[in-house]
Amino acid sequence: MKLPHDTTLYVIGGLAVIGIASASYLYVEGQEKSANISSLEQKNSSLTTELNKTTTTLTNENNTLKSELEDLKESLEELADNYQDERNRNEDFEDQIRALSGTLGDLDKLASIDEELLMKYSKVSFLNENYTPERLRQLKEDWVAPDRGDEYFHYRAYKHLDDLMDEAEDDGVALSIVSAYRSFDEQGEIKGNFTQIYGTGANAFSADQGYSEHQLGTAVDFSTAAIGYQLEQPFDQTEEFKWLEGNAYKYGFILSYPPDNEFYIYEPWHWRFVGTDLARHIHRSSDTFYTMEQREIDSYRLNFFD
Ligand SMILES: [Zn+2]
Repeated sequence: MKLPHDTTLYVIGGLAVIGIASASYLYVEGQEKSANISSLEQKNSSLTTELNKTTTTLTNENNTLKSELEDLKESLEELADNYQDERNRNEDFEDQIRALSGTLGDLDKLASIDEELLMKYSKVSFLNENYTPERLRQLKEDWVAPDRGDEYFHYRAYKHLDDLMDEAEDDGVALSIVSAYRSFDEQGEIKGNFTQIYGTGANAFSADQGYSEHQLGTAVDFSTAAIGYQLEQPFDQTEEFKWLEGNAYKYGFILSYPPDNEFYIYEPWHWRFVGTDLARHIHRSSDTFYTMEQREIDSYRLNFFD
């Protein structure tokens, strides 16, 4: 078929127009798409930037918190250390208070124990004639030798004498007390009686040194039925004396005037309460009460009645 010339031109023209339009359309569409992509890319980049900023901020904040936490931990540890220090200081202080109140307690106790009770008396050093023990307690009648009447002993040392007499009885030893507390006036009478019976020999065993110890209320003269309750040297041959020698110190009693002492005649019957600590010391050593320094004797005063 042969198309007329004009028609061909129209067709070609039409096709060209369509082609141009299509191309334009595609071009515009392409342009739009690429604009979109570019905008998305921008958004993506800005979001990335944003995200990076946020991440950095968060990381910084996290680091700040971490270091704050670290500081807080250190503060707490320091606080705990200070608390421990303070507690230790308080405990030291409490220890000091305790020690101090212990010392005060000891001082009170020491003040309550008459210092005369541990004094050495001699021919030149006498107990004041007006001295009386703080309180006396009457001895059990069955402890006392017949016809002696009432006898008394220092009430705070009484339990030690009580224990001694109980133990002696348990061991089958027939100890009797011939004399315990003597007042200054009584002493005069007794010395008078002894003088009547024994004449001038009375001075040898009844006067002077032993006398002061009886006035304290803490000295006892023991004897036994086997020798007629006499206060004589043969007492040291009796079972009763041997028992006293081996046991009296456990109850705080010592022999004031042992054999061959430089201070007074030997008096095996005369025992003085000096407290269990000092009596134990004297029993174990070669010391006697009257050969010890007064200062050393006084160091036993705190536990005198214990
Ligand atoms: Zn005596």
